[in-house]
Amino acid sequence: MICFNVPPYTGKEMDYIRQAVENQKICGDGEFTKKCNAWIEERTGTKKALLTTSCTHATELAALLAGIGPEDEVIMPAYTFVSTADAFVLRGAKVVFVDIRPDTMNMDENLIEDAVTERTKAIVPVHYAGVACEMDRIMEIARKHNLTVIEDAAQGIMSTYKGRALGTIGDFGCYSFHETKNYSMGEGGALLIRDEKYVEDAEILREKGTNRSKFFRGQIDKYTWVNYGSSYLPSDMNAAYLWAQLELADVINDARLARWKQYWELLTPLKERGILELPAVPEECVHNAHMFYIKAKDLEERTRLLTFLKENGILSVFHYIPLHTAPAGQKFGRFHGEDKYTTKESERLARLPMYYGLEEGQVDYIVSKIKEFYGV
Ligand SMILES: *Cc1c(COP(=O)(O)O)cnc(C)c1O
Repeated sequence: MICFNVPPYTGKEMDYIRQAVENQKICGDGEFTKKCNAWIEERTGTKKALLTTSCTHATELAALLAGIGPEDEVIMPAYTFVSTADAFVLRGAKVVFVDIRPDTMNMDENLIEDAVTERTKAIVPVHYAGVACEMDRIMEIARKHNLTVIEDAAQGIMSTYKGRALGTIGDFGCYSFHETKNYSMGEGGALLIRDEKYVEDAEILREKGTNRSKFFRGQIDKYTWVNYGSSYLPSDMNAAYLWAQLELADVINDARLARWKQYWELLTPLKERGILELPAVPEECVHNAHMFYIKAKDLEERTRLLTFLKENGILSVFHYIPLHTAPAGQKFGRFHGEDKYTTKESERLARLPMYYGLEEGQVDYIVSKIKEFYGV
């Protein structure tokens, strides 16, 4: 059986968790959390990175920092995970969905401006499969209409757009370290903050509305309750698990890219014969092999393909059910313009097994079964 995903594990995780326990510092913002934050800051060049309990929570923090409130509108794609919308819906905002581009499955940058109204407060680009959205155009629209840009870079750590790390281009960036992502701590994420002016507020919001972060740095004598907030900081044991992978981030990235390229090379003949479609990576984007997907002709063919692969011991999956078609999506959002590609393309897409540790021979086998399915 070839799993669809296996959580990343490098071998050092248990040692580091033990170390966190022996440090007698298992709550948040311990040694490993600091190492992870510093690593993200150094690797991406962001002003500030703060580990959080999830990417969902990082997005909630960003929504709070951006001052999103009732009746505000937030523009995003409908082809995304529920968290992208949840963070804003929780603040009472209305979600406005725009269509995606069929090549990258990212929000179509040319449809955003038409969806802007007097109530629009933010744009939330989702970098699907770790391939960047057209950020220059998105930032230009945001500047013109004075909107906040919150990048859902849950899948985008280690990817770049014109040489800049995903999550550092907009006002805020959100990473996920869920077990299905390239680097994991079980459940976890990070908020990336571009502008220094938000850092203190972010620290307070993340620490239950207190100025405890300042206290720990010795900047004040005692800490107190200064604003509303919540608890968005993960335990240092979780950060210890993550640290084992961030230390080997390039090794993991290279291994994933090798399998991605193997899929790409072996499946290109099928693409050239018009049998299936493969992911597009625009020239200005460097991706992180978060995902390898193929597109079948239609929903019916995809269903048969996934069943055939399963019968042959290969777990391949699809996602997402477009948010505007879900009950909550209908309640909290609206689709602006025509759904030309969101539903159609989502019904054709199948994700192939992709994880750190996936073997060359396994990819050969998966591709051989896809070829068998198509009779080539
Ligand atoms: C995984 C994912 C999330 C949610 O991440 P969590 O860390 O589980 O909260 C949000 N958006 C996208 C696009 C994702 O892939």
